[in-house]
Amino acid sequence: MSNLCNRISKKELKKKILMNEESRIVVSFYKYFLIKNTKEYRDRIYQNFYKYNVLGRVYVSDEGINAQISIPVKFYFFVKNFLYNSDLELNNLFINKSLSNHKKAFWVLSVKIKKKIVNDGITNPLFNFKKVGIYIKSRQVNMMLSDRNVIFIDMRNSYEYEIGHFPNAIEIKSQTFREQLKKVIQIMHYAKNKKIVMYCTGGIRCEKASAWMHFNGFKYVYHLKNGILGYVHDANKNGLPILFQGSNFVFDNRMSEKISDKIISFCKQCDKPSDRYVNCNFNLCHLLFIQCKDCTIKFKKCCSKYCMQHL
Ligand SMILES: [Zn+2]
Ligand SMILES: [Zn+2]
Repeated sequence: MSNLCNRISKKELKKKILMNEESRIVVSFYKYFLIKNTKEYRDRIYQNFYKYNVLGRVYVSDEGINAQISIPVKFYFFVKNFLYNSDLELNNLFINKSLSNHKKAFWVLSVKIKKKIVNDGITNPLFNFKKVGIYIKSRQVNMMLSDRNVIFIDMRNSYEYEIGHFPNAIEIKSQTFREQLKKVIQIMHYAKNKKIVMYCTGGIRCEKASAWMHFNGFKYVYHLKNGILGYVHDANKNGLPILFQGSNFVFDNRMSEKISDKIISFCKQCDKPSDRYVNCNFNLCHLLFIQCKDCTIKFKKCCSKYCMQHL
């Protein structure tokens, strides 16, 4: 029988990957398209990724696929080929290569079937998520950043916004994306006739969010092609300045990667500039917070004295 899930413990896998010297590349991609047989599709992805020693997280749903994975460099071409040929919709799929690579990004491979690749909470049957906003790339993004009449909206979570964002971007504070979609309509109600630029990490949220804004009567909605990651790649490719400030939060064990040298956030314990996210070492707490290197040593990677004493 072929292998369709992990049989080794996470601890073992972590040890294995840390001891392994092979270099890896961290990539992410997503695509909204109709997947008819999610079970069959999921298994095919798993078998092929397993064969090429891919690690990370993949979500499959009938609305598409979303993946954050690391691939051994020597297999990158094979994995890309497999994806391009696995479905017509994925031919020439944009694969976001991570800005800095780290082999410790993932320990395991998990391919899950989900109801949606992004949980939007939208139930209105009239909503058409294919009617997205206008895609813009780095040149236009930079131009629009210097235009005072354009409003930038950050569609990520607060902890992502805190360590890095575009200058003057509006933060839509919320715990979940579904809550954020509700809020953004309320908060931005005054701007239905203004130019709005939306962005998120890789573009997956804003494909939906921009369509949602349209649906709610916003006339001029733009969004960053492939998100912040796509913006940085495109700006680098064209020799344009990168106007994003700070670091980008990433959803793997690295927590963040630098985009500009400027640090815009602060250590929660000593207030020194820092963009290092850690999870509190005390398991019952596990709070995600910003902690500088010095405080990590001083507080044994804990968020408080209380947690440190209860380790
Ligand atoms: Zn500190
Ligand atoms: Zn704690």
